[in-house]
Amino acid sequence: MRDVADTARPLRVAIVGAGPAGIYAADALAGQDVVPVAVDLIDRLPTPFGLVRHGIAPDHLKMRALRETLHHTLDHERVRFVGNVEIGIDLDLAELRRHVDAVVYTYGAAGDRRLGIPGEELPGSLPATDVVAWYCGHPDADRARVEELVARAHDVVVVGVGNVALDVARVLARSPAELHPTDMPQHVLDTLAAAPVDRVTVLGRRGPAQASFTTQELRELGHLAEAVVLVDPADLAPDPATDALAAEDRHVARNLAALADYAGHVAEPGKASVRLRFHARPVRLLGTDRVTGVEVERTTVDADGRAVGTGETDVVPADLVVRSVGYRGHALPGLPLVEGTVPHEAGRVLRDGAPSLGEYVAGWIKRGPTGVVGTNKHDARETVASLLADVAAGVLQPRGVEDWVDTLRARGGHPVLLADWRAIDAAEIALGASRGRSRTTLHERDSLLAAVRAAAETVEG
Ligand code: NAP
Repeated sequence: MRDVADTARPLRVAIVGAGPAGIYAADALAGQDVVPVAVDLIDRLPTPFGLVRHGIAPDHLKMRALRETLHHTLDHERVRFVGNVEIGIDLDLAELRRHVDAVVYTYGAAGDRRLGIPGEELPGSLPATDVVAWYCGHPDADRARVEELVARAHDVVVVGVGNVALDVARVLARSPAELHPTDMPQHVLDTLAAAPVDRVTVLGRRGPAQASFTTQELRELGHLAEAVVLVDPADLAPDPATDALAAEDRHVARNLAALADYAGHVAEPGKASVRLRFHARPVRLLGTDRVTGVEVERTTVDADGRAVGTGETDVVPADLVVRSVGYRGHALPGLPLVEGTVPHEAGRVLRDGAPSLGEYVAGWIKRGPTGVVGTNKHDARETVASLLADVAAGVLQPRGVEDWVDTLRARGGHPVLLADWRAIDAAEIALGASRGRSRTTLHERDSLLAAVRAAAETVEG
């Protein structure tokens, strides 16, 4: 391996994580003409798209169609998708760094935040990350655990009032006919169709003006075929702080207006209910061998916007509690992490407070789990601008190195390249067609890799 500058060669950039942030970073690199680049877009799964595949709720068909746009980047001649490779397991980060000129970390925030209250670990209490992974067909989902709970859930409590909480509440309350057009795995559709969900209660620990869900997602709840949305008018009682927030933030005003519409609803026989409760902080999960309810304390919101307990409590019955209180980033072996994000300056990774040459970060693992998919575009561009500035300044240069994918294959690894992903894609479309659906997600790593092998055998045969 040579370690000298070789300007005839493109700059070899490895992007770790092929979700939206990684794809937008690849797009920003491949779409510029100043610095010749060869981009490897790496994912630990055999499939690209990250949370667009395994996070956006499957009933959000338009948002999931974003895959078509992202696919243009995968098809770019300067970009190579390399799936089924886990950095830190299949290949050390240090080794990857020796083989490429720069690494951009975009592996997101896959973990869940904790509530930190008694009973959180009781059977029947799940993080939203587990439920979302299950209904999206993530290969690592704990299918047996989630299905056992969903199959007996009459009363569900969802803790948190962000968009993920609304996704979970909505998916659980949807009718089979509404879910049929999605690409959910068949066993998920079957489990949800048989689930006895009667009541879903969504708990916000602060007031409606502090909820983090967006108005579009809130309004969507009002259009469910077989569920009615309920809000206690007392939760919407006017107070000066709420009025001030609504006056200065249109988003808050719209949310309050949508909630006011729901406050006129009453429960309907034969329909499930989705009740949005505010000023309701969970203080403990009740039950001995499994969850039976959530003890909730009424709160007020102080001048700094914090929830303050009033001491007044009640119990919401629950067979299933879904904790939807945000995601948390994890450390990649050999990479610094402070409170769930990689320390950085304009996307340059900081080690011991100083920029580490050739290391960059974008997406949730850079800024935390906030924003919509499109937020990652601007975020990735900032990071790529820093990378290109380092090339322009002469500190980052192409070096002559051998292809790390060859090295991995020589060791018995099975990287999944673009043609392999296309085989998976075709197999999912064929599986869907067999049930009159446009696609059915393959949810097991083995079946994903079997689709790759079957396509290779067809070509060879
Ligand atoms: P989020 O928007 O940060 O919401 C987290 C919720 O959990 C907040 O209501 C928060 O309340 C609450 N919470 C936190 N700690 C709590 C505790 N100890 N007890 C009770 N409640 C607690 O996170 P998210 O819903 O996971 O979403 C992550 C990001 O993905 C967001 O940017 C979201 O908009 C985005 N997303 C977008 C869509 C979409 O566009 N359709 C769909 C899904 C996700 P406080 O405010 O009081 O802390």
